[in-house]
Amino acid sequence: MVLMNFSGFAGNQALKNRISELFSSNRFPHAVILEGEKGLGKKRLAYLLAQALVCTSGEEVPCGHCGGCVRAKTGNHPDIYTAEGSGKTGAIPVAAIRQLKEDAYILPSEAERKVYILPDADRTLPAAQNAFLKCFEEPPPAAVFIITCATSRALLDTIRSRGVILPLSELTLDEIRQVIDNPERDTGIVEAFRIFGGNAGKIAESLEDTEFAGCISISENILKALLSPKELDIVLASAPLEGKREKLNTVLELLAMSFRDALALSLGVKGEAVTPSPIALELAKKLPPSQLSALYEQCAALREGNNRFVNAALLNSYMCSSLRERSGH
Ligand SMILES: [Zn+2]
Repeated sequence: MVLMNFSGFAGNQALKNRISELFSSNRFPHAVILEGEKGLGKKRLAYLLAQALVCTSGEEVPCGHCGGCVRAKTGNHPDIYTAEGSGKTGAIPVAAIRQLKEDAYILPSEAERKVYILPDADRTLPAAQNAFLKCFEEPPPAAVFIITCATSRALLDTIRSRGVILPLSELTLDEIRQVIDNPERDTGIVEAFRIFGGNAGKIAESLEDTEFAGCISISENILKALLSPKELDIVLASAPLEGKREKLNTVLELLAMSFRDALALSLGVKGEAVTPSPIALELAKKLPPSQLSALYEQCAALREGNNRFVNAALLNSYMCSSLRERSGH
């Protein structure tokens, strides 16, 4: 019996069980559809599956060291083909699909199967999807198609109904910590988890994004300034936001989450299963629930003002005074 080895691919237990079943039945389907939003690991899983399908170890696949695995890992396996999208939309062109379709009926060069990866197939227009239909109606005996898409609803019914749909899910905070494995960035990981949920790709991207890291530190400074007796502190803390609308929106979102966490803490309500940040703990200790709730609501009002293009300098100074007032100064 062949087992699938998922090492390096975190979370998604239900999906892993399903894929393991497909492997152990020795009847891997002609087409699988990996479905989920950007950042959940569809492409990584597609390449892992492709490697498993050409692995020659015959036990736990991919073994990582047979000839098939080595060539798959370096992108040199003759039986793994990735259809590249092109142009602004990233759609796979009709001509590429036609070529792929002809190729799929030719037997593999060295593995038992030929694997075709079609990334972001939902961007591919119906005409190109149509060109591909024959492969679903009369599947080439040795070919496996791995289709990735944000939503399978964008695929033609015939493709959707003849492929096995495998949805990817978000990771838990602990799983994200394992994937990113950088204890020094833990505050950033926790904040990003609140914003992006368990989307490891988006979290990793946001940590690389110095702008986002900057927003986290600005929001921390604003929160500290709210607890400070000096009026100037909040003005200084918010100064880097001057004229930066997008940044201001992110900061307001981060502030709102801290107020919400602090409110949940002070009311003894269990928050969203996330460890509260030290500053949220301090806010909960120093401000009463009524003020935390007013601060939370004020963030939403400020965001609305920001999105309605209220004069940026005015909005910034209004943010400082209104947040200070609501924190009891
Ligand atoms: Zn192998």
